[in-house]
Amino acid sequence: MSTTVKSKNFFIIFFLIVTCYCPPIFSYCEDYFDALDHNARRSVACPLVKDDLSRYSKRDDDDELKIKVSRFQCDNATEETCKNVRKTFDEAAKVISETFILKSTINLDVNFTNFCISKPSLCDVQGGKRVVIGGARSARNMLLLDDDDVARLYPQSLVKQFEFKKHPEFSSIDIIASFNSIVDWYFPSQKTPIRSKQRDMLYVVLHELMHGMGFFTLWGDFLVSDDPKDVLITTRPDIINDNNQTVFNGFKEAAFDRLLIFNRDQTRLTKVSEELNQFAKAGTRFKSDVDLIRKFLDSKQVNVARDMTKITTTPKTISTFPAPSEKVILETSIKPFQGGASMTHVDEKTYLNTPDFLMTFLPVPGKTLEELIAEVGGKGPIGPKLKSIMESLGLATKEKPNPSRPRLAS
Ligand SMILES: [Zn+2]
Repeated sequence: MSTTVKSKNFFIIFFLIVTCYCPPIFSYCEDYFDALDHNARRSVACPLVKDDLSRYSKRDDDDELKIKVSRFQCDNATEETCKNVRKTFDEAAKVISETFILKSTINLDVNFTNFCISKPSLCDVQGGKRVVIGGARSARNMLLLDDDDVARLYPQSLVKQFEFKKHPEFSSIDIIASFNSIVDWYFPSQKTPIRSKQRDMLYVVLHELMHGMGFFTLWGDFLVSDDPKDVLITTRPDIINDNNQTVFNGFKEAAFDRLLIFNRDQTRLTKVSEELNQFAKAGTRFKSDVDLIRKFLDSKQVNVARDMTKITTTPKTISTFPAPSEKVILETSIKPFQGGASMTHVDEKTYLNTPDFLMTFLPVPGKTLEELIAEVGGKGPIGPKLKSIMESLGLATKEKPNPSRPRLAS
């Protein structure tokens, strides 16, 4: 009799343990399809999968580059140019691999083509004065939980380096990159000095790969009202369409946004995200996207967004603190706010003539990367502040082999 009772109790306890420790089966991911269009994305539920940890240790041992061009498409260019483009990515991979300890391979999908043919609007920016030279972004972002219990979106290339036993399923490509073949690119194989309008491709590729590996904010002008002067800056609203309705799942930050602070009072921008999230509970349904924006315009939170518009277009108002005593001022001088430029770069005036010039907004034409490094007295393309920012996102270096890392969001 007593044996039976004991077995039953054991069963109940075992059952509770199994129930309490049951991990989430799916995680939230989002996939991007176009390196140059942040709207070309899709939310996906990615299953949690187990990884064979022995594979990670094997990877540690080999000397192969951990950044690889897995897909390469080169159109509207000579064979020699295509070869040079490919070589540039290999060179960039070498620079990044020498600076950071990459434990898992980062796969790139590179497309080099004439944007004026494939995407004419990108060749006609500001009334034809400018063309888009290229860009890169993470192919898949994953929602992970930080030490402040806020879930943020991490690029897959970074998540791979955390060596989780279980992780959201990885897509075959980590970073998608597109570069415009119409640009007058400079490659080191060119035997003549760089011309005044040429751009060193290695400089631009390294800059873009840093974006793809996590140097990006999710603060932006996502909610567009009828009045073009009424710009609203928020973190990115997570919206899905379901049965012809708009489901709002909260405003979401990127991993990069965790350490942002206001220079005026040293408070965190995450506090503002929290205020914005008072607008509606995750899962709230609206009749349409327009209905959501109208309701937001009628909410208290619209004033928070308008205040952010002023701050993010006033110079030197926001910094990131990748380490306790390391402050890096971000780009907030661009007016009006420009998605993909504002806040997602370091302040040009402060850092252009320093070893941390790489992540200023506009790459300097007419100078090679090597010349620029020599001019500012740098030791390499990745300056100390940039290195510190990437470490704070979770990339290991010789000096900081165990950076903090997020955990799975349940
Ligand atoms: Zn950039």
